Amino acid sequence: MVRVRRETVFGILVTSLPLLAAAVVASLFFPGSGERLVTLYMINVIAVLGIGIYAGNSGIVSFGHVGFMAIGAYASGLLTLNPIIQKTALPHLPEWLAGIGMPFVPALMLALVVVALVAVLIGIPVARLGGSSASIATLGFLVIIHVVLVASTDFTRGSQTFFGIPRAVNLWVALPFAIAAVAVARLYRDSSAGLKLRASREDEIASAAVGVNVKLHRFFAWVLGALLAGAAGALLAHFLGAFSPKDFYFNLTFMLLAMLILGGITTVSGAVGGAAVIMLIVELLRKLEGGVDLGFLKLPTVFGLTDIGIGVAILVVMYRLQDGLFGVRELDERFGWFKRFASKSVVSSASAVATPSAGQGVLQVENLGKRFAGLVALENANFEIRPGLVTGLIGPNGAGKSTLINSVSGVVPPSTGRVLIDGQDVASLAVHAVPVAGLARTFQNIRLFKNLTVLENVTVAASALKSGEDPAARALTVLAEVGLEDFADRLAGTLSYGAQRRLEIARALALKPRYLLLDEPAAGMNPAETEELMHVLDRIRTKYRLGLLVVEHDLKLIMRLCDVVVVLNKGQQIAIGTPAEIQANPEVIEAYIGRRRSSAQARSEQGEVSGLPSSAPGLHNPA
Ligand code: ADP
Ligand code: MG
Repeated sequence: MVRVRRETVFGILVTSLPLLAAAVVASLFFPGSGERLVTLYMINVIAVLGIGIYAGNSGIVSFGHVGFMAIGAYASGLLTLNPIIQKTALPHLPEWLAGIGMPFVPALMLALVVVALVAVLIGIPVARLGGSSASIATLGFLVIIHVVLVASTDFTRGSQTFFGIPRAVNLWVALPFAIAAVAVARLYRDSSAGLKLRASREDEIASAAVGVNVKLHRFFAWVLGALLAGAAGALLAHFLGAFSPKDFYFNLTFMLLAMLILGGITTVSGAVGGAAVIMLIVELLRKLEGGVDLGFLKLPTVFGLTDIGIGVAILVVMYRLQDGLFGVRELDERFGWFKRFASKSVVSSASAVATPSAGQGVLQVENLGKRFAGLVALENANFEIRPGLVTGLIGPNGAGKSTLINSVSGVVPPSTGRVLIDGQDVASLAVHAVPVAGLARTFQNIRLFKNLTVLENVTVAASALKSGEDPAARALTVLAEVGLEDFADRLAGTLSYGAQRRLEIARALALKPRYLLLDEPAAGMNPAETEELMHVLDRIRTKYRLGLLVVEHDLKLIMRLCDVVVVLNKGQQIAIGTPAEIQANPEVIEAYIGRRRSSAQARSEQGEVSGLPSSAPGLHNPA
């Protein structure tokens, strides 16, 4: 079931208003050229939103969507083409395509079917890629489409002008399409799928670790964005009446990307605003380009002034505001407009965080090992994590503790061994399936979705489980669990360090895990924050009978908190036992003292200042 938040509907209305206003102003005060300009603006907004649905939410810049505009334009144009003009313009058209001359809207629908088919075919490989490889692939797609259009002379007249298309699109046809595009883009952005893709944009590894199937969501956004771009292409074709392949190539791509980047790639407001700003710049500079005579001042003709102007505008905005004019949040979100209209949204009494059924079973780590190109980072780890108990994992730096957590949670596939939950080997699952199997984790170097709100960070994880509960409501409950409920609307990146650590724990808890692995959760915290964290951990452990695994350098803390302690050294599991047994274990003491000696040597050799955790002596003198 798709739940549409009232905030989203409000956002759509607010973002559509400027479009409506522009249309009314143009038709009242600037009929003719002004109307044409605003119609073009509507079409550009749709195209920019098409790119933005994919690029903004996934963080991967796409050069390919103009290719979908071209497909939309040519496919719809072939269907609406005036049959008489067609006979002379495209004499070699196959019979099944000849003399159709259908109205615009059904032609648009059919063209979108073609766009969807191509988008699915191309999307399968492209969605597997991330970052710049994906961007390069989209660029390749644009070039291929261009070459195919030029080569298919029977259908497109090659590089010559394709003409005779009925001018079915005017301002009042384009406006509803633009508003619909705003609605689609905003609904997607605010949906659970859109939120998941935005999370993957912020941190792909962390998103997978909270159950996001990154490739699936990239694919979906790619196809949805392609449909919008295809519609923009069909509208443009029926607005202009004539065009050629070069109209859907680098120049248009550059201009649309400029609109997207200038406004802010991640928001719908940014697309609507960025398109307006760039079009105004272009109009202004186009007037200047041909040379100006102001009587006292004669400006010469400057070729390429508009392109230079767009480039400079992007540079200025990027230099001053890296996230574009409109930033990373929608306008209505940033200023909390919705909350002024409606009473504060309901803080529901969602049910408990974890499933109390997590009583039975254990998590078994069996002969787990990991090699990195010859380096044995971990070998033969064997232990259990039991519900309701805290297992400590200690060892000098580089001992393999993080590697162990990464292998158990599927972030780094292990080279050997198994991780069994109720007999199921989770090490063989896809990363994003591991949390669903009951295992959650945090990272040694905090990996939050920095440009998402605190609430959204947790909601992503809460929506990994199909429990029928409202993910946002459960996210609020979990935030209260770690004392962050008052920060729900803040961007995660703006929290204090200790709060960020707690947020990461909340995000993991929202997965309703039975086992929770924490990689140095108290690192960088001050004593008060550490104390507070200990209380939180102790409470959730008993309340939900969680099996906890905690990596920690502070041995006093480990001895106080843990029921069982596992010791790693140089990738080997050298001891396992109760805190008392571990303190008395000569091999453990040797590992720590050995480390002190070698670190001291290294420090004296390199003049290094950073060093041991001061707590190492805690081994001999536990609290
Ligand atoms: P710990 O968390 O106990 O400090 P790690 O698990 O981070 O230790 O590292 C164990 C060893 O594995 C170290 O020697 C480290 O350099 C190596 N290692 C960790 N991750 C990688 C990786 N992705 N590629 C190569 N070597 C790695
Ligand atoms: Mg580590």
